[in-house]
This record gives sequence, C-alpha cells and structure tokens, in this order.
Amino acid sequence: MDKQTVINLDQENYLPVFARYSIVLTHGEGPYIYDNEGKKYIDFLAGIAVNVLGHAHPKLVKAVSEQAGKIIHCSNLYYTEEQATLAKTLAGLSGLNRVFIANSGAEANEGAIKLARKYGKTIAADKVEIITALDSFHGRTLATLTATAQPKYQKGYEPLPGGFSYIPFNDIAALENAISDKTCAVMLETIQGEGGVNVPDQDYLAKVKALCEKHGALVILDEIQSGIGRTGKMFAYEHFGVNPDIVTLAKGLAGGVPIGAFITSEKIAAAFHAGDHGSTFGGNPLACAAANAVLKAMEDEKLLENAQVVGEYLIAKLGELKNKYPSLISNVRGKGLMVGAKLTQPGRDIVNECMNQGAIINCTAGDVLRFVPPLIVTKENVDEMIAILDKTLAAVPCD
Ligand SMILES: *Cc1c(COP(=O)(O)O)cnc(C)c1O
Repeated sequence: MDKQTVINLDQENYLPVFARYSIVLTHGEGPYIYDNEGKKYIDFLAGIAVNVLGHAHPKLVKAVSEQAGKIIHCSNLYYTEEQATLAKTLAGLSGLNRVFIANSGAEANEGAIKLARKYGKTIAADKVEIITALDSFHGRTLATLTATAQPKYQKGYEPLPGGFSYIPFNDIAALENAISDKTCAVMLETIQGEGGVNVPDQDYLAKVKALCEKHGALVILDEIQSGIGRTGKMFAYEHFGVNPDIVTLAKGLAGGVPIGAFITSEKIAAAFHAGDHGSTFGGNPLACAAANAVLKAMEDEKLLENAQVVGEYLIAKLGELKNKYPSLISNVRGKGLMVGAKLTQPGRDIVNECMNQGAIINCTAGDVLRFVPPLIVTKENVDEMIAILDKTLAAVPCD
C-alpha cells in the first residue's frame, strides 16, 4: 500500500484519538527506523522509551521467534519457566521479592494501586488515600488517569474514583501538609516523563520516604519510563539512594513486546490472596521470553554503562545547542538517556521538521523536546541527530 492509502484507511477506521505524524513506518534496524517510501530516520524516541535494544536486535528477534514456535500463550493457571525466570530476575534486580506481570504500564500501576489499598486496610479501614504529583503521568485507565494529576487526561471521564489527592512534584513541604495516617501510598514517577523530564532534587525522594514511614504509607515509584536502564542505572531510584515499597515497570522491559510489572516486598504482597488480582495475558511466555532476552542483552552488552556515557554526551551536545540558540532553548536536563530540552515556544513544528530531515524526536508537555533513544545508541548517532536538530533550530524564524 502506498502512504496515502494507509493514512486514509486509518483515518476512516481507527478511533481518532492520536494526532499522528504523516509517515507510515515499516521496519527498523538498530537505532534506525524506515518508512514505506524507503526514507531512513535516526530514532531518538524508540517508541517512547520502549525499544531499548533498538529495532530488530538479533537476540530479541531470536528469543521471540523461538518462543512463538514453542508456546505463545498459556493461562496463568499453569507455571512456565519463562515467567518464573523473569520473576526471579526482576526480584533480584530490584531488591524486592514479589513480582506480578501485566500487559502495560497502566495495568502495572492499576495493580500497584489495588495492592496499596488492600495493604492499607490491613492497618486501618480508612487508610485508603493515595497522593500523587501534579504533571504526573500514570496511565489511561480510570484509576490511573485519576492518579495522573493533569486535567487534560481527566476531563470528561468524571465521576473519577475517589481517594486521590495531588501535590506539586519536588515540594516536600506540600507533601508534609497533605500526608496523614489515612494515606496508604504516595505514588510518584522517580523522574517525571510526560510532564517534561522533571528531575527531582537529590534529597527529595529520601524525604518522601521518611515522611511515608512516619505515617505508615507506602512509596510507589512509577519507573515505567525511567526504569530498565533508561537513566544509566537499572532503576532511576538508585540515583537517589531510596528503595520504594512498590515499583512499577513497563515500556522498556520487553523491548517492544507489550508487558508491565509491579514488584513489592513479601510483607506488602501478603495483603493479596489467591483470586485477589489477575490477568489473562499478563506474564505470558512470549512477553516473558522477550523480557528475559532484553535483560540478558542489557547485561552482556553493558547497556547501563552505555546509557550513562552516551547520555552525558547527549546532554553536553544539547547544552552546546542551548548556548548557540539561547532564545530557543532555555534548559537541558535529564539522566542517562532520558533527556529533555525546554523550549521557549511550542515544540511540534521543530519535531516535524526534524522528522522531515530524518530524525525522530518527540515533544512532551507542549514545549519540552524529549530524547529517549534506544540504549544501544552511540556518540556518532547522537552527532547525527544533533546535526539535524541544529539545522532545524537555525531555520526557526526569530522575532
Ligand atoms: C507510559 C507511561 C505509563 C503508561 O503506560 P501504558 O503502557 O501506556 O499504559 C505510566 N507511567 C509512566 C511514567 C509512563 O511513562
């Protein structure tokens, strides 16, 4: 099918919820992705922080195809080696010891919210309140969009589930005012992604943890975007010296195969009994085989180190562009390969022009260019993307 045929088919039949860019993607290789007119793009979005091994990584392709030839799915009424292996690996990496595997980020957070409520009730019947941060993003189900403290995601879906309240991110005094013995959990992204790549102060999360301990509330860290090596550590919370009570994962975990997970301690997990939570697809052998291959490749190919080194290089290069275009870029921030550049104007036109020039980047929160490339990218790949961004910024009319 040619490009316009695909676009027309989609626009006539798909739910009109996405403001899509006008290209049709067909395949990729490493950090590159191709459209159906043969055009090549350097991919600094990676399916929004998903394709951690890049595209068509031989080890992931092999794991998925071999698993598909054995068994794609079986019910959670039975054991599989793939799921048991993934649970053990995730428990070991996180220092927690009970894992549940779901199909998406929203579902991982939904499960974490349910667990926090059940656990809270083992302490007091009214210990059910959950505090989240303004500009957060936790997903699109009713409970997770209620946790997502941004009116644009909530509008029109009222009545929303009760028991949620909101505080500004990175403001410990605000949390101190809001938290009480009725709080069962404080749920935060370790680094806010959709909200604009917002990195908290170095001591914020430790203070959150201390306040939560004081009130017997759980700390849920949503590492759906920041986890799985994205920031140069397996979990972004390792940068801040805190350990959550529940951590949620999804995006990068299976390198693009749909998956989500939440991980907690034995003590908290004990609030759940057989039948209290579940999923048909969650943790099926295909997704788990993919995740096992991703985690093994990350270790074999030293991708945490790569994310750290290339991430620093990316931040430095963006800093140079900020100095070159001070009227366009006001701030560069991030950790590892989770990086944002705040603009002084909306970013969509810049993203579009970069795409025309052969670089896929993204804009979030309206005016923050977001860079979340595959963790396999090299400094040369950074140079390639930066050259296109430089050329694009140079052509932005200044007024
Ligand atoms: C993407 C994202 C989610 C939602 O994940 P889905 O798979 O789209 O449901 C939740 N939290 C964070 C931090 C995310 O970045």
